[in-house]
Amino acid sequence: MKKSFKIVVASVVLAFVMVSCGVVSFTGRKQILLFSDSEIMALSDQSYAEFMQSASVSTNAAATKRLKEVGAKMVSALESYLESHSQKSVLNGLKWEFVLVNSAEVNAFCMPSGKIVFYEGILKYADTPDYIAVVMGHEMAHAIAKHGNERMSQQSLLDLVGSAASEVIGAKKGAVAQNLFNIGFGIGSQAGLLLPYSRQHEYEADKIGMYIMDIAGYDVNAAPAFWKKMTEGKSSSQSDFFSTHPSDAKRIAALEEAIRTKPAL
Ligand SMILES: [Zn+2]
Repeated sequence: MKKSFKIVVASVVLAFVMVSCGVVSFTGRKQILLFSDSEIMALSDQSYAEFMQSASVSTNAAATKRLKEVGAKMVSALESYLESHSQKSVLNGLKWEFVLVNSAEVNAFCMPSGKIVFYEGILKYADTPDYIAVVMGHEMAHAIAKHGNERMSQQSLLDLVGSAASEVIGAKKGAVAQNLFNIGFGIGSQAGLLLPYSRQHEYEADKIGMYIMDIAGYDVNAAPAFWKKMTEGKSSSQSDFFSTHPSDAKRIAALEEAIRTKPAL
């Protein structure tokens, strides 16, 4: 690529980035979002449909009911909170759904479109409504903080700086977007469906998740307690959840600090 072209590309990207900043709810962190909500939702729906084709929905009616109850309670609290803070647009395009799948894997994830999937295996740890709320809040937080979009955006900027600039800008945009979604969201990566988000995103999801628990009336102290419980089970499990959601002392300490410094919501 010629130097002059690089400068043009860089200027275009810079202009794009300047008009594509978002602000994360609850934390106020500024982020770069280069993809529209509708692009993200379309990619998300496609991946979710593919996942559900191979998944088997749990037949445990009691556990499914409990999961849906916690989910509905948290969504309703979140909606009222955002509405009263004039931030309802954060929920644009989100279609919450809570599904329990039949698998012993200790796992859970949330699509950027709001589809939250729990694996039966995680209920061994999330065995009370408060503990379910910890996982639910964390996963909801990834969606409302638009971590998937942000990660795709970061990756596309990296690609642009590298040699893939012409691909990102050029005619292959559709395929590139799908690829970026896979990178951003983790599907197709070794970590499987769990989000291999950065530590910054994980900590932010912990914090926002804890805030959502609070406004929904759950015990926020269940959050660090849950991760301690997960740490204890770590040695006996090879789950992906532990590799992408490290439940180490630092993380637990960060959550405890977030609880100590939590503003009145
Ligand atoms: Zn996470």
